[in-house]
Amino acid sequence: MKIHEYQGKEILRQFGVPTPRGVACFSVDEAVAVAQQLGGAAWVVKAQIHAGGRGKGGGVKVARLPEEVKRAAQQILGMHLVTHQTGSGGQVVRRLLIEEGAQIIKEFYLGMVIDRSEQRVALLASSEGGMEIEEVATHNPEKIHKVWIDPVAGLTDDESDDVSRKIGIPEAALAQARACLQGLYRAFVEKDAMLAEINPLVLTADGRVLALDAKFNFDSNALYRHPEIVAYRDLDEEDPAEIEASKFDLSYISLDGDIGCLVNGAGLAMATMDIIKLYGGSPANFLDVGGGASKEKVTEAFKLMLKNPKLKAILVNIFGGIMKCDVIAEGVVAAAREVHLNVPLVVRLEGTNVELGKKILAESGLPIISGNDMADAAEKVVAAARGA
Ligand code: ADP
Ligand code: MG
Repeated sequence: MKIHEYQGKEILRQFGVPTPRGVACFSVDEAVAVAQQLGGAAWVVKAQIHAGGRGKGGGVKVARLPEEVKRAAQQILGMHLVTHQTGSGGQVVRRLLIEEGAQIIKEFYLGMVIDRSEQRVALLASSEGGMEIEEVATHNPEKIHKVWIDPVAGLTDDESDDVSRKIGIPEAALAQARACLQGLYRAFVEKDAMLAEINPLVLTADGRVLALDAKFNFDSNALYRHPEIVAYRDLDEEDPAEIEASKFDLSYISLDGDIGCLVNGAGLAMATMDIIKLYGGSPANFLDVGGGASKEKVTEAFKLMLKNPKLKAILVNIFGGIMKCDVIAEGVVAAAREVHLNVPLVVRLEGTNVELGKKILAESGLPIISGNDMADAAEKVVAAARGA
């Protein structure tokens, strides 16, 4: 689960990581009032969306007068902010962060991820802050320093100082950097994060070390023990189809193509998307209805796929192991009737009671195209999507 920058900064402060003072706002008037309350010589008006690269996309603006805060807030609030992480449609900005402007001397990168092969949290640090870390990793990988943190010892003072020196933090600021690195690590562990990033961490003209940006992604399997993180959820930032799917316990991810896929099991769902691609088609979604796909679940899954205006055909690919094929077939027929299916439907069933399942589909009177195996089904659904 992702959160906004201003929420990430609230967490960082709880763990002793210094950030600029700032307040989240929902309107232009509020933004101006907040800037006046904060005082100071400059403010930064920042779009709050769950995507990085906002600066380049025009979502971060420096203002030196209340009038400029107003103009920036007017420009940014409501804009469709397009960044390398939003897709071409962009994301509508509904919240702003107004914060003190920092006088930046140098920008650094700090990130934390779980390195499964090392079974540890890895700290990544670089002198090349402010930029996309993917770029640095491609062109200057030697400029990214890694520390695999011992879960018992935590990030030690020595490790922190060592990596701080490597990225060019001056001696006088090492203690402050320690607060940032160790605070970030404690936040990462205690809040069950999967990814945490401070990009940039900066050194200011008055010698302070501050987190100017904050990004967190939390492990959704651990959210049950963090109601305070769940409270940060912003449904405006999530795909409506995916929110709907989660209510019915369906694993659904929207994609760009036009062939809807309804599959049981994540592995089979991945293989189904692959084979659609192999035959020249493009999947509209990933959808795993799970092991115990009931008629209700299958119906909800059909409704979800049909909400997509791009949808041209549906492929149902079910392996009846725990679920029997006849039960699935009944579910598919009932669902297809209920939703008034208006696109071609290809069904491939395999497993327990497959013959009975096929019979139910054939006798339903619905124009269901039967696929004999995965390749056959994929070929047929790609052809159907093309209107063949
Ligand atoms: P994003 O990563 O989405 O582009 P950031 O929060 O990193 O957004 O902001 C982009 C850039 O804007 C930063 O690299 C920094 O140079 C500048 N910036 C952000 N916040 C401040 C601030 N409070 N004071 C001064 N400059 C800032
Ligand atoms: Mg950033």
